[in-house]
Amino acid sequence: MSLFTKSPITEIKGIGEKLAEKFSKLNIETVQDLLFHIPFRYQDTSSIISIQEFKERGEGTFLAQIEKVSTAYLRKKITTVRVKDDTGFLNLTYFNQTYLQKSLKKGDIYLFSAKITQRGNRKNVYNPKFEIFKEDPQKQTDLGKLVGIYPETKGLSSRIIRSKISDLQKETGYFKKLLKDPLDKETLNEFRLISLSDAISKIHFPESQEDIDDARKRLAFDEMLRIAFKIETQALKQQKEVSEPMDIKSEILNDFIKSLPFELTDDQNKAVEEILEDTSKEKPMNRLLNGDVGSGKTVVSAIAILNTIKNGYSSILIAPTTVLAKQHYETFNKIFKNFNIDIELCISTKKIIKRVDNKLIIGTHAILYEKELPKDLNLVVIDEQHRFGVEQREYFKEKTEKSPHYLTMTATPIPRSLTEVFFGGLNVSEIRQKPKYQKEIKTYFTPYRKREDCFNWIKNKIKESKKNSIYENQVFVIYPLIEESEKLNAKAVLVEVEYLKKLFKGLNVDFLHGRLKEKDKEKLLKDFREKKIQVLVSTTVIEVGIDIPDATIMVIEDAERFGLAQLHQLRGRVGRGEKESYCFVIPSSSVEKNSPSQKRLIYFANHNSGFEVAEYDLESRGPGEVYGLRQSGIPVFKVASIHDIKLLNKARKLAKIYLKEDNNSEKILQNLFR
Ligand code: ADP
Ligand code: MG
Repeated sequence: MSLFTKSPITEIKGIGEKLAEKFSKLNIETVQDLLFHIPFRYQDTSSIISIQEFKERGEGTFLAQIEKVSTAYLRKKITTVRVKDDTGFLNLTYFNQTYLQKSLKKGDIYLFSAKITQRGNRKNVYNPKFEIFKEDPQKQTDLGKLVGIYPETKGLSSRIIRSKISDLQKETGYFKKLLKDPLDKETLNEFRLISLSDAISKIHFPESQEDIDDARKRLAFDEMLRIAFKIETQALKQQKEVSEPMDIKSEILNDFIKSLPFELTDDQNKAVEEILEDTSKEKPMNRLLNGDVGSGKTVVSAIAILNTIKNGYSSILIAPTTVLAKQHYETFNKIFKNFNIDIELCISTKKIIKRVDNKLIIGTHAILYEKELPKDLNLVVIDEQHRFGVEQREYFKEKTEKSPHYLTMTATPIPRSLTEVFFGGLNVSEIRQKPKYQKEIKTYFTPYRKREDCFNWIKNKIKESKKNSIYENQVFVIYPLIEESEKLNAKAVLVEVEYLKKLFKGLNVDFLHGRLKEKDKEKLLKDFREKKIQVLVSTTVIEVGIDIPDATIMVIEDAERFGLAQLHQLRGRVGRGEKESYCFVIPSSSVEKNSPSQKRLIYFANHNSGFEVAEYDLESRGPGEVYGLRQSGIPVFKVASIHDIKLLNKARKLAKIYLKEDNNSEKILQNLFR
């Protein structure tokens, strides 16, 4: 029976239902899945030493002849294998592997890879890896060469995975018959890439580091090409969409800008220009407004909205939470007071959009479920976008005849490399400057042992701020958990709030978390805003966009548990007013000096720009960790680097050519390495 890439792995000789089940845990179902399951690192056992050298170094790979095998049946079954070479003898100890008694035969020559364990004066070599020696090193599968270490699962070690792939390789002639190369010869030449079957052979069974490099280069290209196809396909689709072009109502816009209590920053002005330019075209705008917390994205969107309404169309503003939608509703009512604009709030409890045209609708994602949307919708603004999806666009497309213009605002700055790789076709306006009046939030890395000092300092700070029987300074204290957990050894709101109540005796301490009812949450925030509460203990529910100008101090405990982007979001909850603001990041007691966790937190304390923090986080932890793999929709690369924009651009060029020749990229995508 001949195998295909899509054949189930059970069609491979030696893989039955049982083993297939285990492979399935690694998401390996087909022959292709198995071949694309590649090592994440290599172990080099290619340099072979003598027994003498092994004894001196304490570890390594050596070649030896079996001298004697004996098994003692004690509580544990202990098999002792005596081996020798020209330089000496050595005893190897195996536990509960009595089959060795039969399989290791006197006189046979084996490769062993091992480590010496020393207890007191006794030196032992426990359970060394072994493989029978073959004349041709390429015939060795496990030892005497570079061997790949794979993502494993219970009952499926790298050794087994390796041997199954090796069998398959022999059966299919170095995969040449099996793997169809999605790229043609010309392309391979142009980009100096090896064929897919060579790359897969080399990535699994390299003879040298060079092999690994060549293979990785090819596989990285495939991964980028997949993304490139996605970006270019999307771009092609969008080219066909039409929306209503709008005039730039300069006079009204200028009146509005003059009515603001501040001047726009250069970055804000530039973003406004770019947006108005986009929306003056028939091609729908698709722009990301990428800016730091507090950089003033709202007012930029307000200008775009104002222009839309004054052109006679409607606009929708989507916020991530009801609280934030309400906040926006208030803000827009205030700033548009003299501009005669119909504004409607649409949140889950009140879902009817009256069919009046030419208005601004502010709401949550509940709007997406509205059966009818204004016929004249021409601008959609999505605020604090955490997810990297285009689903919303798709949603609106079904409901409106023409495509509205889209403006997406980030919750936290997104590094350039990520917007390129993920958003590809999207245009980006960056706001890097902060409004002038805004002071830097003084951020301190506070070692765990200084924790109590820190709280005492805060207590004094609050007490000092007392004016007319009101304490002016207010504090957030953030914990990772709501309540204590058996699984996670982390601090919890409901526990620590008791400790803080004692510590802040005389002041009002209260708590907030996601499991409270919406009503209670709102009441708490209202009390906090009205300064009835001085210390608000919370989980990260307060992360998103809550604006309380007199909150000046943020404390984050177990801070190493949070991503830097998230910490930065949290820090952005203070420093909203004119007063000096502080942020303290306190690690848990288990974080060691000079550990990577501590270094990350210190970097955070020393850098106030959200862009810098996000870039650092992406660099040091990778996109999966930073943005959460599953929900983010960010592509996960096995080989390619998300920072390799050059490679992406090359791949995009190629994708464009392929798409022009043949609109069906499916064939290529099916065969590309993933
Ligand atoms: P974000 O970008 O995080 O959404 P906001 O739009 O909420 O930030 O703006 C934060 C605060 O800064 C608001 O109170 C807003 O009125 C104010 N603001 C915006 N732009 C400026 C500016 N150019 N100068 C001074 N204050 C500004
Ligand atoms: Mg905002």
